[in-house]
Amino acid sequence: MQQVTVRCTVDNCYYWRGGNVCDAKEILVTNDMVGQRYPGEVDVQHLSTVLEEVGETPVKSCQETCCKTFRPGK
Ligand code: SF4
Repeated sequence: MQQVTVRCTVDNCYYWRGGNVCDAKEILVTNDMVGQRYPGEVDVQHLSTVLEEVGETPVKSCQETCCKTFRPGK
């Protein structure tokens, strides 16, 4: 699997580290409609289930996307 460094400025997330780096092993980025359907964060144990349920979710702009792995941390 390709390794990707995720840069993120959401510094009150549990997975956020100094230098604006995400320390999560996996994250789920999806569209805002899915974000509303699953109002809480999607933990790693439920990631496959959610992915099977929502399928592919195209958007027209970056403003329609969100990170569903966010977890309050501070
Ligand atoms: S899980 Fe999402 S919100 Fe949290 S640090 Fe990573 S990319 Fe940012």
